[in-house]
Amino acid sequence: MDKENTPKIIIAIDGPAASGKGSLAKKLAAMLEYDFLDTGALYRRVALKVLEQNIDPANKDAVIAATRALITELSAEYDDSALRNDNVGSTASKIAQIQAVRDILVEFQRDFAKNAKKGAVLDGRDIGTVICPDADIKLFVTASVEKRAERRYLELQSRGINAKKPSVLAEMQERDDRDKARLDAHLNPDHDKYLIDTSGLTPQAVLDEALKIINSR
Ligand code: C5P
Repeated sequence: MDKENTPKIIIAIDGPAASGKGSLAKKLAAMLEYDFLDTGALYRRVALKVLEQNIDPANKDAVIAATRALITELSAEYDDSALRNDNVGSTASKIAQIQAVRDILVEFQRDFAKNAKKGAVLDGRDIGTVICPDADIKLFVTASVEKRAERRYLELQSRGINAKKPSVLAEMQERDDRDKARLDAHLNPDHDKYLIDTSGLTPQAVLDEALKIINSR
């Protein structure tokens, strides 16, 4: 590896939807002046393209072709607000089951980590296991499905979107089921040490806990 491109520190943050991993990752990257990659947004960008082009998410060949086309034109700038709805999230978790889609996006993510100057924070589902297995710090951020559904419900309300609590919970559960293989890969004693359960924590307490772990390393 080119020495100049060797990142000093890679922080991998994984966890289920609405666990608080994204805001933690963003804050850490800003504090440490590291590059930041929301890898879920990559899957969401593919999903948005699939939805815009009326592609059936089960049509693997068409989804793979859309992913290939997207990756060649992937710019750092994108409209994040267009990605933040449950239809895109749910479609993202469907197209994320296609191994060829993952392979295309894996390469992009690894390059991002490799090319970081000072360090990088990546958040997703498979960062510590697949993308950056040699990451210096691996955090697994989680919360009960009820708590995560509650957060998502309040977030939708604050954006003026009228959702029903039971359907938000059901959607969250479905997405967990689809993401299960990758989430379960973290359930071993090695990762348990770095597990942060955010169910009863404020965002500041989550940040403090993460900093405590980082400083102890
Ligand atoms: O994290 P976020 O909810 O934005 O991710 C959307 C979907 O993308 C997830 O439900 C998951 O299926 C998929 N994903 C993935 N691997 C990642 C990040 C996201 O499979 N590293």
